[in-house]
Amino acid sequence: MELLIRGGTLVDPSQGLHGQYDLLIRDGVVVKVAESLAPSGEKVLEAAGKTILPGLVDLHTHLREPGFEEKETVESACRAAATGGFTSITAMPNTDPVMDDGRTVEYVRLLSCRAGGVRVWPVGAVSKGLAGRELAEIGLMYRSGIRAVTDDGRGVSCARLLKNALLYCRQFELPLFEHCEEEALAAGGQVHDGVAALRLGLPGLPASAETVMLARDLLLAAETGGRVHIMHLSTARAVEMIRQAKAEGVRVTAEVTPHHLLLTEDAVLGFNTYAKVKPPLRTAADMQALRQGLLDGAIDAIATDHAPHTEAEKAGDFLSSPFGIAGLETAFPLLYTYLVRTGVIPLDLLVGKMSRTPAAILGIPHGSLAPGFAADLVLIDTEQELTIDRRRFLSRGKNSPFHGWQVTGLPVLTMVSGKVVWMS
Ligand SMILES: [Zn+2]
Ligand SMILES: [Zn+2]
Repeated sequence: MELLIRGGTLVDPSQGLHGQYDLLIRDGVVVKVAESLAPSGEKVLEAAGKTILPGLVDLHTHLREPGFEEKETVESACRAAATGGFTSITAMPNTDPVMDDGRTVEYVRLLSCRAGGVRVWPVGAVSKGLAGRELAEIGLMYRSGIRAVTDDGRGVSCARLLKNALLYCRQFELPLFEHCEEEALAAGGQVHDGVAALRLGLPGLPASAETVMLARDLLLAAETGGRVHIMHLSTARAVEMIRQAKAEGVRVTAEVTPHHLLLTEDAVLGFNTYAKVKPPLRTAADMQALRQGLLDGAIDAIATDHAPHTEAEKAGDFLSSPFGIAGLETAFPLLYTYLVRTGVIPLDLLVGKMSRTPAAILGIPHGSLAPGFAADLVLIDTEQELTIDRRRFLSRGKNSPFHGWQVTGLPVLTMVSGKVVWMS
């Protein structure tokens, strides 16, 4: 089966392309990219006025199933992802049961096949039950298809366990995704340990909770030669530390979330539980440093840390409300509108950080529309405007601090292997 996508503006930094190109797709694979391809009997999709991007790849997605289906299911997350222009997402292991053995990995893969939309890449636990005491069945999970390991939700507090995990994962070239949060320093913290914490009278989460653990992780990555990937960076100091470690040849990569790029601690004022997240939203100077880190390469990727919760959970008082923001459906339009349109970062850079680079971190052959790659792509409308309405999310998690924001850069069609999985 052949499909010609014609007349659109292709933005694919993996090929250095930004301009008007046509794409010929055969049996779900890109076979030709050229300035002008004449139709010769195949199906034609007219993309004039639209921007074509490689399908977005999310390194950090909480699907909640098994165990927390009231927050999200694999199926609802996949639908939300397709709506947001994502064609590959990850499945974080903090489910119930925890994804710490081959069977649970296979179960989640089965659920994602049934959902039948976007690709789901499981991420296994570092430690059994995320308890931080003994290593999970990493070898077995690797054979069942995990692309990384993490104890996300918390960091790996035992340095010895982390070192063993890095050494073990090195055999499989698996990256270890770290949630940098030093437990004792973060204990009881609710919001950034700064002006917001003072004004609200809430216990703070200090920047050092992130940087103390990061320093240890970078030292252990250097010592073991293992691959460490730092999730959801939030502080200026951490960006600087990663920049330096990279210059020294440490095998480290890092991600930042849309909310840390666009919001500061002020978002929690008024006890706004929708802005309660870990790591917390920090200062304007931190936010600027994260943007700078994207530009100079200290930060490799943008990841949503999509963390859906129920309305009831977020409607409670601030202290008992869980941490997390649902981000799959708003990530691209928000970043396009508030970072690209405003001239903070170029579109090519944004697209690269959301497609080929995260795909490379996971070691998956996606995130590019070069000939030979699967036709995973998204068509973007850069003219149409929309007011974000969290009540209309397809995700079960409606917990977004971006409700009411005006955006453009909306995905209008998402394709996986040449098959439409979502269309507006
Ligand atoms: Zn985390
Ligand atoms: Zn997370």
